[in-house]
Amino acid sequence: MQVGATMELLRPLLADITADGLSLVGEVTAEELGLTEEDAVLPGPLAVSLDLTNIEGLVAVTGVLEGTIVRECVRCLKEYEDPLAFSVRAAFIQEPKSAPRHPKRIDPRKGRAEVVEAESEEESDDQYHYQGNQLELAPMLREHVILSAPMQPLCSDDCVGLCAQCGKDLNEGPCQCAEEPTIPTFRVVQSMKHKTGGSSAS
Ligand SMILES: [Zn+2]
Ligand SMILES: [Zn+2]
Repeated sequence: MQVGATMELLRPLLADITADGLSLVGEVTAEELGLTEEDAVLPGPLAVSLDLTNIEGLVAVTGVLEGTIVRECVRCLKEYEDPLAFSVRAAFIQEPKSAPRHPKRIDPRKGRAEVVEAESEEESDDQYHYQGNQLELAPMLREHVILSAPMQPLCSDDCVGLCAQCGKDLNEGPCQCAEEPTIPTFRVVQSMKHKTGGSSAS
């Protein structure tokens, strides 16, 4: 168990975040970020470099995350390693001490649902809460890694994908079904060019 440096990196104490700020630099693994294999596959740790500033209880976090992530190409369905590098921006505010864990309680006398503050958890994508005197950076970083996934990951921009009919990976060469419709017309054009070229030369 590697408790120590990494745990402190992901759980900085509020007292250590001064007005001048706190810099956190180190490496974190998928496990430490709480990433499961379904979220993201990381062949190695991610390099984290974060700057934290505390302005009257509002902690602003900026920085970068870099490493390698394994993605699946949408065209050929192969897994490939993709460089991962993105900037992190988040704000942490202290969770109100009396924040109710169960926001919707029905008061039978009033006959309607009391919608209390906890709905504000969804107020902003990059706003997080901390409790007590310590920040939990792992859930925020985990979310950033998941959101970094492109809608259409491609192993390469010119990946030609699989044949829709036989399923062969066309990056490895043409399949039988592809030959028939395209190549004959191409040959005709080529042989015509060849004829005119040949006649002028002789
Ligand atoms: Zn591909
Ligand atoms: Zn085919």
